[in-house]
Amino acid sequence: MQCTSSQNPNNERSEEMIRYIKYCRRCVMPETKPDLLIDGEGVCSACRYYEHRKAVDWKKRGEELASILERFRSKSGDHYDCIIPVSGGKDSTFQTIRMLELGMNPLCVTATTDRLSTIGRKNIENLKNLGVDYIEVSTNPVVRRRINRIALTQIGDVSWPEHVAIFTIPVRIAVQLKVPLIIWGENSQNEYGGPAGDAQNNTLTRQWLEEFGGLLGLRVSDLIGQDGIKRSDLIQFFYPEDSELRRVGVTGLFLGYYLPWDGYQNALIAQASGFTSYHKTVEGSIVNYENLDNCQTGIHDYFKFLKYAFGRATDLACLHIRRQRLSREDAMNLVKAHDGKFPNQYLDCTLNDILDDIGMSMEEFVNVCDRFTNKKLFQCDTRGNLIKDRSGNLTKINYDNVVDEDRRDS
Ligand SMILES: [Zn+2]
Repeated sequence: MQCTSSQNPNNERSEEMIRYIKYCRRCVMPETKPDLLIDGEGVCSACRYYEHRKAVDWKKRGEELASILERFRSKSGDHYDCIIPVSGGKDSTFQTIRMLELGMNPLCVTATTDRLSTIGRKNIENLKNLGVDYIEVSTNPVVRRRINRIALTQIGDVSWPEHVAIFTIPVRIAVQLKVPLIIWGENSQNEYGGPAGDAQNNTLTRQWLEEFGGLLGLRVSDLIGQDGIKRSDLIQFFYPEDSELRRVGVTGLFLGYYLPWDGYQNALIAQASGFTSYHKTVEGSIVNYENLDNCQTGIHDYFKFLKYAFGRATDLACLHIRRQRLSREDAMNLVKAHDGKFPNQYLDCTLNDILDDIGMSMEEFVNVCDRFTNKKLFQCDTRGNLIKDRSGNLTKINYDNVVDEDRRDS
């Protein structure tokens, strides 16, 4: 039974097409992922992009990186050589280790997460002790919680202010301290697929932020006047003007373009330098070494599941399949077991704690969830209401298509 839905904010396909979710034959990503294409052979654009990595001359890319770094290194020692935006996570710990190995004198910059976890703070302190100068910018938490609430109810993404701030704050610091080079981690369009033209884009611009930075159509200026928020409350969320960027010559590179990027490898390297993984598998995930710094991430990932019928477990399973660390069958079983569970707990916070923080009742939260659920992707009863188990979990209309198609074809 397919339910009809007037609330279908994110699916652009025709109603006729959404009777069955199609998945990549190689990984486990569904076609519902924004900007992902599944080709005539049933293989997704992210898997195709990963194939191309085999032909990359990494030695040459490494040499390109060395020559870029040389150009920006402060000869007098009066200035930092580069800025590294860091969260203290496995990737930013790896970025910092590599930059130090390459002889750079970085300034590490953190935009404090929406709700920093205990383990997140511990990993930030560890990162500082790699031997770097460090600046942390925390935006007004009272305003931040209002923005979390506005973003959750209006675009179904509680993490919107965090996704904005992690781009704007390091760029603002680069302008203020006149440090032109910013070392970003991976370009998500490379690793996770997306328009092919952008996969070659190894610099970050305002245009990139607006297209891929997770703004979801909500602009920073849209917040002015909502819930008492003033322009002066939002200073850190605004990207510097183009004229300021040009004056300092701010540029950025994605380290993932120059070095073969692998989150698991980064975690191993980070752990060997004191990075702490979680003591168990992170809720909604299949690993214990990433997304450890923000207790609101459980809500963020859950809404992705409600909109597109895949969550963090799917993302991770796909990365491990492409690197031949998981079979598709095992990955599918892990996804079924872990993806998209109602986010009662994430790291050291309960959902109740987080909702109290942002001034939302559980009832209101469940209503917002239902409003952003793409009902065509989940099982509903004969009256069109979502079917939930006792824990509030939904069931997808189908969890795979490849096995069914192969059976039909044979
Ligand atoms: Zn794929």
